[in-house]
Amino acid sequence: MNSLREEFSRPRQELVSSIYSQLPIVAIGNTFLVVGNLLAYHEKIDPAVLWSYGMAAILLPLIRVLLFLNYRHHGFQHRSLRHHSHILQLISLVNGLVWGAWGGYVVVNVPAAEVGVMVILQAGHCAGAASTSSASRIGLVSFLIPALGPLIYFEAITGTRDGLILASGFLVYTILAISSSQRIYRTLYDSILLAEKNRQLADQLYRYSHTDSLTGIANRRSFNSRYDELWQQLESTQQAFSLLLCDVDFFKSYNDSKGHMLGDECLRSIAIAMREYFAGTNAMVARYGGEEFIALLPGVGEARARELAEGLRQKIHDAGMPHELSIPWQRVTISVGLASHVAGDGISQNELIERADKALYQAKGKGRNRVCALPSENPMPDAGSAAVAGTS
Ligand code: GH3
Ligand code: MG
Ligand code: MG
Repeated sequence: MNSLREEFSRPRQELVSSIYSQLPIVAIGNTFLVVGNLLAYHEKIDPAVLWSYGMAAILLPLIRVLLFLNYRHHGFQHRSLRHHSHILQLISLVNGLVWGAWGGYVVVNVPAAEVGVMVILQAGHCAGAASTSSASRIGLVSFLIPALGPLIYFEAITGTRDGLILASGFLVYTILAISSSQRIYRTLYDSILLAEKNRQLADQLYRYSHTDSLTGIANRRSFNSRYDELWQQLESTQQAFSLLLCDVDFFKSYNDSKGHMLGDECLRSIAIAMREYFAGTNAMVARYGGEEFIALLPGVGEARARELAEGLRQKIHDAGMPHELSIPWQRVTISVGLASHVAGDGISQNELIERADKALYQAKGKGRNRVCALPSENPMPDAGSAAVAGTS
């Protein structure tokens, strides 16, 4: 329910944002229209009306600019989307009423031959509104109808041929402006929805392409890109760095005796155990391939990495997943190859992995269910370097 609501509120938020982003342009356009009208009619209109119109028509652009600045600073943080929409609709309505009152007043009080400037400015104004405010259908209608209604009405009741032509022209114009803005709205809404769907698909694709489908942890591709990234980072900060390459012992016979399905289940349990073990640290755990997992330990030197590797080996051992053909433990165990890198030891990214692989090979050769490390060539001082049972 929530995600459905979110799915529909996101495009709406984009629509409201697009109205906000147009506010300064609309404010500038409005100010020009006010100045145009004032220049055209200042000698023919009662000064009190002129002042009221001028003040209202200047205040509205000012309010728009303030709303825009408020949106720029706070976005949608303090008020709901609905609240923002209502404010924008209210501004449109008030604006429409001001312009409608002005249009009606000019038609009634200015000789018919001289209303041309206002009519042209009003038509331009409404055309501009139809394109800049299409993102809010209610907002646009709340502007167009009060802005053009009085003009149509007062022209129609003049009873003259020109008045009727102008009134019916404006009526058709209003209908066309509303219907074309509906189409613009639909296109805008669809394109926002499409962009949102594309973004979600791109996220999903990224997640799929970086996650191992069997175990749900990071896959090798994800490991590789994180490894590259960390290598650059840690080279520049001169921090230590360790890799644990873990391989399930006698896994072929596990599959052979229990079947592939249980084999898969076992790999999932090991992945979960590894993730839990390193939870809360900045280590990255990934499935490296088949029944091999890798843990990337940024900022961890060799001695601490040995402790962590041993703890992990012990955890898998203590989980006691039955594996009768694994002699002598009769449970699922892992062997771990450890390699560490310190600034200035001159080894490359690939060499570090090769060292972890060699260490893993040693662990297998020495009987499995153990941690082995190739001594690093330039070990950094690191806390907790005591020998740990099960490591060599
Ligand atoms: P060692 O102790 O020397 O590592 O022996 P091992 O039997 O584990 O090593 P080997 O490389 O001979 O066998 C690995 C097995 O892992 C073979 C393969 O069937 C199994 N395996 C690899 N990927 C998967 C998988 O995704 N699911 C399952 N169920 N088995 C897998
Ligand atoms: Mg293997
Ligand atoms: Mg194995």
